[in-house]
Amino acid sequence: MSENKKAEKIAGIKGMNDLLPDDAPLWELFENTVQSVLKSYGFQQIRTPIVESTPLFARGLGAVTDVVEKEMYSFEDSMNGDKLTLRPEGTAGVVRAAIEHNLVYDGPRRLWYTGPMFRHERPQRGRYRQFHQVGAEALGFSGPDIDAELIMMCQRLWDDLGLQNVRLELNSIGDAAERAQHRAALVTYFEQHLDILDAEAQRRLHTNPLRILDTKNPAMQEMVNGAPKLLDYLGEESLAHFEGVQKILRHNSIPFTINTRLVRGLDYYNRTVFEWVTDELGAQGTVCAGGRYDSLFGIFGGKPTPSCGFAMGIERLLELMKINGDLHKPALCDVYLVHQGDAGQVQSMVLGERLRDAGLDVVLHCATAAGAGSFKSQMKKADGSGAAYAVIIGEDEASNNTVSIKAMRADDVENNQVNVPFDTAVDYLVDQIAGVEDADHCCDDPTHIHIHH
Ligand code: ATP
Ligand code: MG
Repeated sequence: MSENKKAEKIAGIKGMNDLLPDDAPLWELFENTVQSVLKSYGFQQIRTPIVESTPLFARGLGAVTDVVEKEMYSFEDSMNGDKLTLRPEGTAGVVRAAIEHNLVYDGPRRLWYTGPMFRHERPQRGRYRQFHQVGAEALGFSGPDIDAELIMMCQRLWDDLGLQNVRLELNSIGDAAERAQHRAALVTYFEQHLDILDAEAQRRLHTNPLRILDTKNPAMQEMVNGAPKLLDYLGEESLAHFEGVQKILRHNSIPFTINTRLVRGLDYYNRTVFEWVTDELGAQGTVCAGGRYDSLFGIFGGKPTPSCGFAMGIERLLELMKINGDLHKPALCDVYLVHQGDAGQVQSMVLGERLRDAGLDVVLHCATAAGAGSFKSQMKKADGSGAAYAVIIGEDEASNNTVSIKAMRADDVENNQVNVPFDTAVDYLVDQIAGVEDADHCCDDPTHIHIHH
């Protein structure tokens, strides 16, 4: 390429987003909160690969589901012809790993994961091609207690994140036999209303009629409202399980509504299904979805292991945090080091290490292509960093072995600078910053991003 011709830019992939530094504190707050809530219920983290064999999803999620039919990033490994897929969800991989490593041989397990998922969908607000989920999977539990515990854990997370206006919808979709009976009744009903079914519904009529209930087509709403309800086909055991979940939720004051039309888009669910929904995010209002999947281990050739789990969409939850929360931009550091001259630069570097030893976050002004920077331009950077203090080592300070410390957030801007011996600077700053943090501890707002030491 010729020297003076500018290289063409290469863009990122549509629907796959960069996490930019300004949003990093929000992601970190979210991740830290999730981690501590899940830990408080005894969930252990598991990390599985992003790539799995294609049949894992085709078999696990169901061949006629939206995800498998049209949303998977599947490809052939050009080295060996293996059929591979970028994971569209986390449960299949976790269950595969649990079987492969015998994780439930000596009893049930509570697991959680987080990471990117991939679905080839039309990108729009709250819907991306690479998105991120946090999921929890309780493996080897059969009673309604764990279903309720998972739901209560979500409620605690919303509370800790400062999220309001997230409501719980609950349903039971029964067992395979009950669903088969209901499905037959449903097909008969839809056949009586063929003229109202849209093209997609007609296509699903004999492959996945349950999914028609989930239609967003307004013209079909009334017809769908009158369709046979799965709840009316539930047997005694399924009903008792469903009643058990509701009883625990009521006892713990978790409000919910029963949505008899709630079904999940993946085939492996049975009995309890639930969604956490908000009206504040437009059309993509489901922030978390889950349910029971008692047959998935069997589908993958493992020992029958009744299980229940959920997955939440991180992008949607972060958007809700931005709407609900009082999010302050956190400071980049506690102390910004400003210097002039060679001696000042050397001294600043030494002081920076000592301050970090003492637990402070420190940014040292470093040279760019434009040079080391004037005193004035360095002070501007110090201000922009949000640091509580600028420490200045100019030529005078370097020669008499002192530092000047300027309080950047002081009310009294005239009297906010002191000159102290170099060796006392660390103690001085630690005292000042610890004092301010103690006074600051009145702030209970969970969405206020703090810098911790
Ligand atoms: P939807 O009805 O919105 O398509 P889904 O039923 O396909 O959701 P699940 O497979 O249950 O979604 O995934 C759990 C959660 O992950 C969803 O509730 C949502 O918050 C999030 N999610 C799913 N697909 C996407 C996507 N393409 N982009 C962003 N978040 C997503
Ligand atoms: Mg979807």
